[in-house]
Amino acid sequence: MRDTCQGKSPSMRKCTNDYQRLWASTIYDGINDGIFIGFRWKAACLLACETIHHNRAVARLGGDEFVVMLEDLSKDDLEAATQAETVGEKIRSSLSQSYRLQGNDHHCTPSLGITLFGGPQQEKNTEPLKRAELAMYQAKSVGRNAVRFFDPEMQAKVSERAAMELSMRESLLVGDFQLYYQPQVVGEGRTTGAEALVRWLHPKKGLVSPGDFIPLAEDTGLILPLGQWVMDTACVQLAKWATCANFAHLTLSVNVSARQFRHKNFVSNVLATLSRTGANPQQLKLELTESLLVEDVEGIISKMTALRAHGVGFSLDDFGTGYSSLSYLKRLPLDQLKIDQGFVKNILSDPNDSAIAKMVIALADSLGLMVIAEGVEIEAQRDFLARHGCHAYQGFLFSRPLPIELFEGIVRSTSPGRIDRFVPN
Ligand code: C2E
Ligand code: CA
Ligand code: CA
Repeated sequence: MRDTCQGKSPSMRKCTNDYQRLWASTIYDGINDGIFIGFRWKAACLLACETIHHNRAVARLGGDEFVVMLEDLSKDDLEAATQAETVGEKIRSSLSQSYRLQGNDHHCTPSLGITLFGGPQQEKNTEPLKRAELAMYQAKSVGRNAVRFFDPEMQAKVSERAAMELSMRESLLVGDFQLYYQPQVVGEGRTTGAEALVRWLHPKKGLVSPGDFIPLAEDTGLILPLGQWVMDTACVQLAKWATCANFAHLTLSVNVSARQFRHKNFVSNVLATLSRTGANPQQLKLELTESLLVEDVEGIISKMTALRAHGVGFSLDDFGTGYSSLSYLKRLPLDQLKIDQGFVKNILSDPNDSAIAKMVIALADSLGLMVIAEGVEIEAQRDFLARHGCHAYQGFLFSRPLPIELFEGIVRSTSPGRIDRFVPN
């Protein structure tokens, strides 16, 4: 099995070996039960593998023992394990459905063991199979009809991830997410808008920050309903602000994940949300990241153009951290570049970071785009940026992301005519 993996690109080296034993081989009186089990099993495996597009080899070892080998799994161990578990679970659930044969109902309780192999460490060909077999016995020992990993640490991580996914699904149903608002200010300290940042009010863990759940939401597809909830909430808020003199001028920036943006209904969903809530599209800004630009740039441009025709604005988030080509950048219907906080952090001490920040400001200027710096924590950073032509900022110097009532308090206190806390020296 090792040979199958060696010599391929790193992405092909992580392989998974699902080893399973079917329980219930005595119920097939009168037919060649082994062949029947084999067909049923193979169909389940193929179907499960197909659904997540992995190269696979499927084999019957003999009796009621089978092996599936998956290739092209992620280079990241946890992600590879999660992919393998998804396939394993599909096989398990497909096989464990009862079926009718020769007038009788039959049930299988398959046990699946999983191990990863093909990494940098050298091992004998037989080792992965042994590990998978041990894992399979683990699955049997917890009552069969189960999927288990050989590595207990991996098992714990995969289980925690599965529990978190379930809990996120429940939270979406009961409304445990909240939107926080971080002010975006212009030079003299006036708040012109906010970035909407989602928070998860976890029933047990309390407030969870998006860095801990957005990647999982992206992997599982939950980012689609979550992103829609964020869009709805943001647009409802914009429509409310429009009726109040203190807030009517505010823009709202909403983060959009690549997976959300690539969805075929993204444009129509945003337009429907705008029209349902009555929010002014001119005050909605969508923050995209450079990672979106790795494929189908034409498709991205056409979606952006369609939304922009209705007045929706676009900001390129975390700018400078990706690899977007300048020729693409020229063609994207953008309104704003956002200097990544990683550069702002060391802008005063690291000549490379300050050079990049200055370059982004100059680039925005030459492309006719606005520029905003995020992660501004101290006045010296703001002053440096201001000296080089950046006039919009976001960061802890001004405010952390806040629940709506507190954010609105800040806006009132920094409205024109009020005492301005942020006038540069
Ligand atoms: P981001 O879009 O780059 O958001 C900026 C992050 O920097 C936020 O973290 C914000 O709280 C933090 N931040 C702001 N000012 C400062 C500062 O002065 N210093 C430092 N050290 N940090 C600052 P947060 O809220 O934890 O969000 C993390 C990331 O999660 C966001 O990064 C964004 O990529 C993602 N995210 C948040 N909300 C959403 C959402 O509704 N949808 C999607 N798809 N992603 C979201
Ligand atoms: Ca952002
Ligand atoms: Ca950012």
